[in-house]
Amino acid sequence: MNKVIEGSISFLFCLVFSLIGYGQTDSDTWKDDPYCNKGHLPDALFSTGLRGFTVTDNYDLKYYRFEWEVDPAVYNIKGTVTPYFKVLNDQFSDMNFDFSSTLKVDSIIWHGIKLSYSQPSSYVLNIKFPVSIPKSSIDSISISYNGAPPSGGFGSFIKSTHKTDPIIWTLSEPFGAQDWWPCKNGLDDKIDSIDVIVTTPEKYRAASNGSLMSEKSVGNGMKKYHWKHNYAIASYLVAIAVTNYTTYVDDVHLKDGTVMPMLNYVYPEDLDAARKGTADNVKVLQFYDSLFISYPFKKEKYGHAQFGWGGGMEHQTMSFVINYSWGLLSHELAHQWFGDLVTCGDWEDIWLNEGFATYLEGLSRERYPQGPNDWPNWKSGKINSITSTPTGSVRVSDPTSENRIFSSALSYNKGSYLLHMLRWKLGDDNFFKACRNYLNDRAYNYARTTHLKSHLESVSGQDLTEFFKDWFEGEGYPSYQVSWDQSGGKTKIRLRQTTSHPSVGFLKCRFS
Ligand SMILES: [Zn+2]
Repeated sequence: MNKVIEGSISFLFCLVFSLIGYGQTDSDTWKDDPYCNKGHLPDALFSTGLRGFTVTDNYDLKYYRFEWEVDPAVYNIKGTVTPYFKVLNDQFSDMNFDFSSTLKVDSIIWHGIKLSYSQPSSYVLNIKFPVSIPKSSIDSISISYNGAPPSGGFGSFIKSTHKTDPIIWTLSEPFGAQDWWPCKNGLDDKIDSIDVIVTTPEKYRAASNGSLMSEKSVGNGMKKYHWKHNYAIASYLVAIAVTNYTTYVDDVHLKDGTVMPMLNYVYPEDLDAARKGTADNVKVLQFYDSLFISYPFKKEKYGHAQFGWGGGMEHQTMSFVINYSWGLLSHELAHQWFGDLVTCGDWEDIWLNEGFATYLEGLSRERYPQGPNDWPNWKSGKINSITSTPTGSVRVSDPTSENRIFSSALSYNKGSYLLHMLRWKLGDDNFFKACRNYLNDRAYNYARTTHLKSHLESVSGQDLTEFFKDWFEGEGYPSYQVSWDQSGGKTKIRLRQTTSHPSVGFLKCRFS
């Protein structure tokens, strides 16, 4: 996800960080952190906070068929979702989904039988089976519902207009899927594959994840779009957008010889800007594909669907974007590896998504500068942002707070600079090799910061415990004071460091 901030970033007051602090005494004064031993919050506890999250750990999601009817001129969703799941517990006779009680459940069908259900709180749907289902069985239910979804977070389900044409889009990260479909909203169970079938008035097109299998008229002036995605996907990355899109394809030649479509659903009025932006983005996709590992969803596609939220969102295989700028497209594309293929396993580790996506945008500018000094300016801008926030850690201290999770200074910019420092500490070969190992190890799954740390350590042979303690868990940034004295043909230089926050007494840093 990337929120585009209006206005320009000032590069005038860049704090020069290139001084190397090695060889000085490390005098950490690490303070007790109330979050230090908290570990992963169980979903049941998490749920008592902000918005939902019930106990959904007695089954493993295998597949969803989503069948939705959406008219972008009407703020409503109607449909049937059919999850297939594997039973994980003995005595499995009821199950929960995270789902808003604002939406009306019409029926829940299991093997032709109508099941009883309740919505005991605002984001819990409890379903009861007439018999216990044996452990390890794979079973399914169909939940039909309709209504006007609530819209929390960044706008989980939004109706808007471009020019005068209506549009509906979804944006579920981090907690919004439950606002518009019955889901598991946690970060512990990817759905193995999905079908997304959207019926809409025939003057509109529906964009979604995966490959477009069919697009056909179904009578009464309606059209049905069938998208199929055969890769594991986190709930928050399932998305639809419906409006009067114009579509076109850019061909992408991947390193292994695959020719894959970049499929673009754009507003007709923005077609020219889109064509330029997506053609540029093809180069970036090829760059990431060769620098890291092969594009993770190459049997299907990459693509863009335009929407009206003020930035972009990396929906799997189909990023939603407000415009076609180099930075925005490079950022959302990077998430296909860092965020979608490998998803942060807890919101406290969001830097594994956002720090990487931000850094990869920087790498795309290092490789293809978009003007004089593009890469140095990009780095200066990040440092300005980081040093505008003397407190706060890259690790998210409050993973129930959307604003804290998506802090641009901490999760995005300081997160990206941690990676830049690690690149210099390990060297290019080791750094990128460790990133590739991390991606391969956690592919189509979730990851925590410890997974990345262990791959960086095993490739480099370096112990990075102190680095992560200072830079990931600790708060603040270093400043340097230089003084010198010239006498008798000698020059004495004195370098002092101060830190902006007492959680770290001295910060080792090394990069240019
Ligand atoms: Zn992002």
